[in-house]
Amino acid sequence: RSQARLINESQQRVTFADVAGLDEEKQELEEVVDFLKNPKRYLEMGARIPKGVLLYGPPGTGKTLLARAVAGEAGVPFFSESGSGFVEMFVGVGASRVRDLFDQAKKNAPCIVFIDELDAVGRMRGAGYGGGNDEREQTLNQLLVEMDGFGVNEGIILMAATNRPDVLDPALLRPGRFDRQIVVHAPDLAGRIEILKVHTRNKPLASDVDLAVIAKRTPGFTGADLANLANEAALLAARERQKRITMANFIEATERVMAGPQKKTRVLS
Ligand code: ATP
Repeated sequence: RSQARLINESQQRVTFADVAGLDEEKQELEEVVDFLKNPKRYLEMGARIPKGVLLYGPPGTGKTLLARAVAGEAGVPFFSESGSGFVEMFVGVGASRVRDLFDQAKKNAPCIVFIDELDAVGRMRGAGYGGGNDEREQTLNQLLVEMDGFGVNEGIILMAATNRPDVLDPALLRPGRFDRQIVVHAPDLAGRIEILKVHTRNKPLASDVDLAVIAKRTPGFTGADLANLANEAALLAARERQKRITMANFIEATERVMAGPQKKTRVLS
């Protein structure tokens, strides 16, 4: 049986409103949402819809969130599996998991199939590692077979994310496979403000909190860092039994999030 995670979108529905900034990226994905909602309209026009959408960009910029939001907007199931989950397996198991994932998807179409860390399974074949990795290559071959084995009119859209598009096997990027690629950018100042707004939406903020100032102090922070920052600030306020989260909490939280990765390097070195 496949271990693919099915996220029940009626319980934890993510929509484009949860994805801050990334306006261009969302706009490009609108077409996929509309197709999943009204496949007939597109098929009648003979329009060719992308079969696979590859999202690429730095870690923590919202690629998984975007893919879930496409499913949420379209109101279809979301099946997700991580590329690394396919390959840390005994010989043959990865390939059979890929098969199971697509079997489930076909039974539940229209739906989204999402593969995170596509590079873990999708690295160029025969790219060394002293003799290659047969298990991984078998898994990748199975993925290519599955991608070719369904037509767009089956209502399955494959999405995947990677931070390393440069190492992907070119076979994955051919027409009829991941034929649409969308760069997911790290947020700029305006993007960071939007992300902070989303992650403080359900939190009680003191009147001195200025999200623009926090955004200015956090260049280089990704969406994941900012989500973490907002949560740390809330934890600090709760620990002090405050009624609201103050600017001082946010400033302390910023320092903590910045120190986080540094602490890790210290432990490693
Ligand atoms: P990775 O490559 O590490 O898997 P990713 O690009 O898939 O990262 P996500 O898993 O989507 O990143 O992001 C992690 C979390 O960071 C999200 O669940 C969300 O809370 C927050 N986040 C990231 N980007 C955004 C965004 N643009 N708007 C709102 N929240 C965001």
